Amino acid sequence: MSTTQNKDYYATLGVKKTATPEEIRKAFRKAARRYHPDVNPGDKRAEEKFKEISEANDILSDEKKRKVYDQLGFYSDQIDPAQAEAYARQQGGQSPVDFGGFDFSGFQSGSPQAGAGSSGWGSFKDIFSGIFSGAQQSQRPRGPQAGTDLEYQATVDFWTAIRGGQARMQVHRQETCPTCHGQAQAGGPAPCPECNGTGQVTQMGGRMKFNIPCPRCNGTGRTSNDCPTCHGQGTVSRTETVEFRIKAGTRDGQRIRLQGKGNSGVNGGSAGDLFVIVRTGPHPVFTRTGDDIHLTVPVTVPEASLGAKVDVPTIDGRAQLKIPPGTQSGQKLRMRARGVESASHPSQRGDQIVTVEVVVPTLQDERSREIMRELAKLNSQDPRVKLFDQV
Ligand SMILES: [Zn+2]
Ligand SMILES: [Zn+2]
Repeated sequence: MSTTQNKDYYATLGVKKTATPEEIRKAFRKAARRYHPDVNPGDKRAEEKFKEISEANDILSDEKKRKVYDQLGFYSDQIDPAQAEAYARQQGGQSPVDFGGFDFSGFQSGSPQAGAGSSGWGSFKDIFSGIFSGAQQSQRPRGPQAGTDLEYQATVDFWTAIRGGQARMQVHRQETCPTCHGQAQAGGPAPCPECNGTGQVTQMGGRMKFNIPCPRCNGTGRTSNDCPTCHGQGTVSRTETVEFRIKAGTRDGQRIRLQGKGNSGVNGGSAGDLFVIVRTGPHPVFTRTGDDIHLTVPVTVPEASLGAKVDVPTIDGRAQLKIPPGTQSGQKLRMRARGVESASHPSQRGDQIVTVEVVVPTLQDERSREIMRELAKLNSQDPRVKLFDQV
């Protein structure tokens, strides 16, 4: 008996089940740009992929269709959202029915027996109630379950964040169990006697035929015990070293998404993602704010008062900075485009901002003190006048 796999539209678009309409729209546009047949002429796989994402978008971008899909795990135009909801409530949110063998066309309201509106659906629901009143409630669901996302912080060396490079970190994650390969069950492939290993049994509801997952083996087609390694979880806890690329210009607090490096899914469910929040490391001289570099540069009294050209360190080596005459201590001087090359706009660079620190000389000899006294006589302005004006 063939099994029709329900499609995971969320995975197709690469969004979470909780994605907002805006996120879905963005994800579709991004994927469509990549797989559009116009962009990939003659590429059959791209064409197929484009059909898949279009279908996923068709369902997920429509509030009503999405609701039906969320509740049943599939979508058909024949299904009324209210019925889907009632059905989902009845099933406690699970969707154990395989509709692959079921022909919905018999339920079209246009058919002579169905009458107006959804009267045909009443009987449909009744049949379901009959099927699911069995003893399945206590069994645990065995459908594919997606792995959860992980979030880690990683401190990256000051220079690696600026120039780019590789970084690595230890991550604890749930990984597919190596013993049972995520099947959560042990033992060889002993076919289930109930369904002869197909995982499906046929139930008749009036003149209609339903395929439902075999209640004895829960649709797996096999009867076996819980895996001893993972105790039926399908995953085991592992500590792993994850290596990832740091783009040049990566800023403090930036999030890097490592697709599929989160927790593994169960029973063929997709793996979650790993999000790394980058913390950029410190430097003894430079301080980084976004793409700007800050540093404090000491200058002498003559340099500050007469003006000078001084060598200062930058992230690219020495550079000359012009100190204008009369520069005060604490004044900030900007060196344009001497900062970090932007990760998002590689042609742009931040600035280097130099805070000037005037160093007052300790005078050792009488001649110097003489000159300083003479200087004071010639420049007798009181720098504290304004202070008293405002008190
Ligand atoms: Zn296992
Ligand atoms: Zn079975």
